[in-house]
Parts: sequence; structure tokens; C-alpha cells
Amino acid sequence: MERLDHPESTRLASDVPPTATEPRGTRVDLDNVSKRYRIGDVTVTALDDVSLHVDEMAFVVVLGPSGSGKTTLLNLIGVLDTPTEGRVAINGQDLSRASRREMFAFRRRTVSFIFQTFNLFPGLTALENVQFGADVAGRADAEEVAHEVLERVGLGDRVQHFPHQLSGGEQQRVAIARALATENPILLADEPTGELDFTTGVQILQLLQAQAEAGKSVLVVSHNREISRIADRVVELSSGRIVRDGPPVGGKRRTDELRW
Ligand code: ADP
Ligand code: MG
Repeated sequence: MERLDHPESTRLASDVPPTATEPRGTRVDLDNVSKRYRIGDVTVTALDDVSLHVDEMAFVVVLGPSGSGKTTLLNLIGVLDTPTEGRVAINGQDLSRASRREMFAFRRRTVSFIFQTFNLFPGLTALENVQFGADVAGRADAEEVAHEVLERVGLGDRVQHFPHQLSGGEQQRVAIARALATENPILLADEPTGELDFTTGVQILQLLQAQAEAGKSVLVVSHNREISRIADRVVELSSGRIVRDGPPVGGKRRTDELRW
């Protein structure tokens, strides 16, 4: 992998639209996407003919009950998986039939994941966890970047802490810092507040919303309708189908107006 010293230049040319002058979200296109799992004689349809188009710089919440296909959708957008039918394209690049090797190469420069259970390395400090994210993305200045993003998420005084010495909210902020350290344009979060109390959850959502305002494409999966009200756009799933796609029902709310 080619490494360049200038942070803006570490992105591969193929990852950025030719007209882009600075990192600015990205474009996600799903056309008539279905995902079926076959287990023995039974076929489970996790996603059923889903079409979704996300432009750069959006804060999208994918809303739906358990089992509606949210994680499956996120994994397809994150190029962790390929569809059974239909087309998945990121920044115009068709990844529907990509090999695992191509998927890996694309993923490490394009998407970052945040999980409900944080998924930090228990034996690494906050700083090392974040530095790992930067390393994987091929950042030459990984340690410097790790310090900077930990500052940005308000953990400048916790860099030498191990995950078990941090609260749930702090661990999730480390996970967000790890995602930001990659500089990848798409941030995918699967139920990121599921393990957190209300106040801490709101702080995490504010942090994610700020990333969208700073130019990332942020997709947050949730089963909580109230959370979806801070989004620019809510994509509602039911039994693997998009049943609604638009601004939040009842209007958009500020994070400090949320109650759940
Ligand atoms: P959600 O994240 O909304 O809870 P998922 O995307 O995880 O939903 O799952 C949607 C449906 O697909 C569920 O019925 C689930 O059981 C099924 N499913 C998900 N992943 C697999 C898999 N790897 N193998 C078989 N079935 C799966
Ligand atoms: Mg899920």
C-alpha cells in the first residue's frame, strides 16, 4: 500500500470523486438489492428489493424493529457482504460482485464501523486502540492522529486508560475516535447507544451528528424512533423492505429535545 506523508493525500485516487478538493462524504447507491440466507431447506429473506441512494454529507438513521434487516443493510453498505441480487455501488464503484480481497481493499479506505458493544481491544490503551484504526487505514502519522481525535471526542485526559478503566460512554467515544482516525468518508454505527444510559446516549448521538456536519456520510441503525428524530433522513425498514424514507415523522428535533 502506497503511503504518503500528507494526510489529505493518503486517500487513494479511486476513492475520491475527481472534482473533490477535500474529504466530503460520499455516495451510496443500492439498486433493487435483496439478501437471502439459505439454511438447509429454509431461505430467509433479510432484505427484499431495497433501493436506497445517499448523497454526500447526510445524517441518516435506519429505523426498524429487531429482525427487520438493519444490520444486513449496514453490512452491505459497509462492503462486509455482497447482495444476493441487485447492485451496491459506493462512489460509483460497483461492488456487488467484488472478491473478498477487493472488498477488503475498498473497505479500509472507505468505511468505519461503530458497534453497540464498542468492540475495543481490551489489552490496548485508548490511544493504542485508536492508533490501530489509523494504522489499518494506512495513515503514516497514526500516533499523532490518534492523539488529535481523542482530544476531539473529549478524551484527551484518558489516552493511557484501558477499556475496563473507562465508562461505557467513554469506551464508545474511543470507538468513535478509532473510526475518525481512519479519515474514511463513511461512518456506520449499529445501535451505538444500545448499551448506554439516556444522557450518555445523547452525547454519543451529538458526536455522530457533528461528524455528518463536518462532511462525513453517517448512517446510524436504531430500533428507537425517538433517536431517528435528530436525523436529516429516516429510512424505515420492516421485514426487509423500505416502508418509509424521508424526514423524521413529526419534524426534526435537536439532540437536547430528545426523550426516551
Ligand atoms: P436487524 O439488524 O434489524 O435486527 P438483521 O439484519 O440482523 O436484522 O436480520 C434480518 C433477518 O435476517 C433476520 O430474520 C435474521 O434472522 C436473518 N439473518 C441475518 N443474518 C443472517 C445470517 N448470517 N444467516 C441467516 N439468517 C440471517
Ligand atoms: Mg441488528
